[in-house]
Amino acid sequence: MNINALTKIVGLIGYPIDYTLSPDMHNAAFKELNLNFVYLPFRVKSEDLPLAINGLSALNIVGVNVTIPHKELVMKYLDDLSEEAGMIGAVNTICVQNGKLRGDNTDGKGFVASLREELKVDPAGKKVFILGAGGAARAIGFSLAKLGVKRMTMTDIEMPKAERLSADIKHHFHGLWLDTVGLNDRKFEENVLDCDILINATPCGMHQDDPLLINPDWFSSNQVVYDIIYNPGQTHLLKAAKEKGCLTQNGLGMLIHQGALSFELWTGEKAPIEVMRQAIVESRK
Ligand code: NAP
Repeated sequence: MNINALTKIVGLIGYPIDYTLSPDMHNAAFKELNLNFVYLPFRVKSEDLPLAINGLSALNIVGVNVTIPHKELVMKYLDDLSEEAGMIGAVNTICVQNGKLRGDNTDGKGFVASLREELKVDPAGKKVFILGAGGAARAIGFSLAKLGVKRMTMTDIEMPKAERLSADIKHHFHGLWLDTVGLNDRKFEENVLDCDILINATPCGMHQDDPLLINPDWFSSNQVVYDIIYNPGQTHLLKAAKEKGCLTQNGLGMLIHQGALSFELWTGEKAPIEVMRQAIVESRK
């Protein structure tokens, strides 16, 4: 990497960000396309967020990804939002152009791109079940609603959160058939049995002793099971689903595709997806 006065700087703002894979993924892509860009991690605590955001333009930084805990708070410091970011209510990508900051959200679109490209599955017309109603579920839910899924069911350990997300999505997509079910509700099993695509958007599965949220007997071989967790690469949920013959995918696909979409916003170039994937695989060894 040859850094000079013309090098364009992008990066990641969040706290903590100790385990981020994004610098490896983006810097490999810049190298592949011979772009004079560099991607840097910026550890920014909540109290420093306004200063950091105001400094982006002054430092000629071209753009940043935004992660936990700033995705929602950051919106009030931006000049403009994409339709997606405005609907979702969270920003994961900022572009700096002519001193103006525009917020976008590539998480949901990245999830959909992964479904389409890795699994060759088009969510339009499908029945979808989403576990979790946090930030990632919000981005995924809006993107799937926009694509015209047939039905969406969601749950969360805190049901008011699922109900709030459901109401927010319905507010924008009036015709969508959208339900919430409690984890102990009888309809929970019925809806899982009947769905085409089941998505885990909770952190449950990151640890070895986390419970399995779904009874594996409810899976069938015509279902797709997508766990957005990427560490570990195979959660208990994915293992159980695979054993039942489901088509499965871990969160690496979403991570790579959301990153690729940010890359394209900053550089205007088509992202080299396979190079980005390989860089992540190498950095996890
Ligand atoms: P978040 O905002 O904290 O949302 C997670 C939601 O799941 C929360 O509402 C949480 O409730 C709920 N939850 C936790 N345990 C549950 C359980 N056992 N049953 C039902 N609901 C449960 O987190 P996030 O940002 O959406 O991220 C969720 C996961 O996705 C994390 O593991 C993250 O690393 C991963 N992720 C992956 C990608 C990717 O690119 N692959 C992108 C974003 C996130 P409480 O608030 O009560 O705990």
